[in-house]
Amino acid sequence: MSKQPPAIGIDLGTTFSVVAMLNEAGQPETLVNAEGDRLTPSLVLFDNDQVIVGKEALKALATEAEWVAECAKRDIGHRVFHKAIGGKQYPPEVIEAFILNKLRVDTTARIGDYEKVVITVPAYFDEVRRKATQDAGYMAGFEVMDIINEPTAAAIAFGYQKGFLSRDGFPHKPEIILVYDLGGGTFDVTVMELHGREFRALATDGDVRLGGFDWDQRLVDLVAEAFARQHFLDPREDARAAGKLWRECEEAKRTLSVRPKTFVPVDFMGRTARIEVTRQQFEEATQDLLDRTRFTTEQTLRAAGLTWEKVDRVLLVGGATRMPMVREMLRKLSGLEPDASVEADEAVAHGAALHAGLLLAKSQGKPRLFKIKNVNSHSLGVVGIDPLTKRRRNGIVIPRNTPLPTTARRIFRTQKDNQRSILVEVVEGESPSADDCTLIGRCSVRNLPPGLPAKSPVHVYFHYHPNGRLKVRVEVPNTHAKIETEFKRENSLPKEHLDGWRKYICGKDPTDYT
Ligand code: ADP
Ligand code: MG
Repeated sequence: MSKQPPAIGIDLGTTFSVVAMLNEAGQPETLVNAEGDRLTPSLVLFDNDQVIVGKEALKALATEAEWVAECAKRDIGHRVFHKAIGGKQYPPEVIEAFILNKLRVDTTARIGDYEKVVITVPAYFDEVRRKATQDAGYMAGFEVMDIINEPTAAAIAFGYQKGFLSRDGFPHKPEIILVYDLGGGTFDVTVMELHGREFRALATDGDVRLGGFDWDQRLVDLVAEAFARQHFLDPREDARAAGKLWRECEEAKRTLSVRPKTFVPVDFMGRTARIEVTRQQFEEATQDLLDRTRFTTEQTLRAAGLTWEKVDRVLLVGGATRMPMVREMLRKLSGLEPDASVEADEAVAHGAALHAGLLLAKSQGKPRLFKIKNVNSHSLGVVGIDPLTKRRRNGIVIPRNTPLPTTARRIFRTQKDNQRSILVEVVEGESPSADDCTLIGRCSVRNLPPGLPAKSPVHVYFHYHPNGRLKVRVEVPNTHAKIETEFKRENSLPKEHLDGWRKYICGKDPTDYT
């Protein structure tokens, strides 16, 4: 009998990544990297021909920032990373693939070869970003069994820790959990119902461009301005000095989580200073960021049709929830003591490993320990032209927060006799204007049977998988025509590029992949 593959979950974070595996007893454990650390900084240093990921890349930010790619997760879904490195423009998922490859190589050295993994994504990631994350896994030499939402993964890790996943340990009365995840670069809030061993998402929202990193930037501004008042020089104007200052400020931010004040050393163009920052100054300078998370949290609760009295638990996830201002705000809002019982930085990877274990068990016909029910985080729409204004309009087909999986049908009509093709543009977003939404792709329906009269119906089915990935299918009623639907994705790397990068990054040959 072949050996059962290990159940591996990866939290590919904006600032830190974590790999976890289920041990013999089925418990999730964090796997350390080659440096012996549980958390791997999600940064990539391009050093001539060498690509270095993790701690050394983080250090290099202070001295050779122009060669370091940081926060690539924030750019996922865009065509290229926001800065060119050595004149080269990398797709963000390629940078993510370099990070994943290091995680693969380091953990392989400890546990032996494996391919199958589950990777986590913010619940608020749209379809394009989900696809790009799966592509990153492929380029890193993995077989991505599934992607799972980070708050769901955290809730599963929490449920496991509480013994809810054991045979009789689950709570018999439904429990409402609000998962507040403030990481380095993304903010996610999800309202979930835990019922028996079922984890059901009720509503989710967030901000893919809000996280601890923004708090750092405010501290950088605070310190740089104080330095400039003393020396009439601004360290932010130089990439290296700015990189170094950012590292100092990120440290200082952590200190301010436990101490009321700290000093940030600044050394720029021969001038040095020790700038004092108090927690109060820091909190005042970042109040609006916190308010944005509060606003989103309340909105999500409303979207779930609930009020604070109904919430049983506020679960804290993400390193940035260690800031006292976050806990204080949530305490005031909810009237509950926020629950920090799961390891803020590792819970997501642990939940992903539990999900990987579930998928492997399922493939062997074993019973499932728990069930996940997800919702879509963005409305799905097709683009139409408003007959009056001639503007491109978003016609919503599947509203956000719809339980998944789900299928919706939309009927299009041919415009002229013998029309042989139709083009459907698919977007995600809430705005009525199509141009304010994310274009997922263009679906061209070709080979319609000949001789169809004008106004013939064409049925287009949109199917969301439980993990938020989309499939499109087309039918023409009363015909058996085999219709080609090619879903041409926007900002997505074609298969040949994925294969080329895969070979380059991890030395593996292409495999079938959809
Ligand atoms: P991600 O998953 O987005 O990479 P993490 O959950 O690992 O993020 O959180 C990283 C963020 O948490 C960083 O911005 C880091 O500065 C912040 N962080 C970690 N520990 C603390 C702390 N003690 N106080 C304040 N912020 C912290
Ligand atoms: Mg995270």
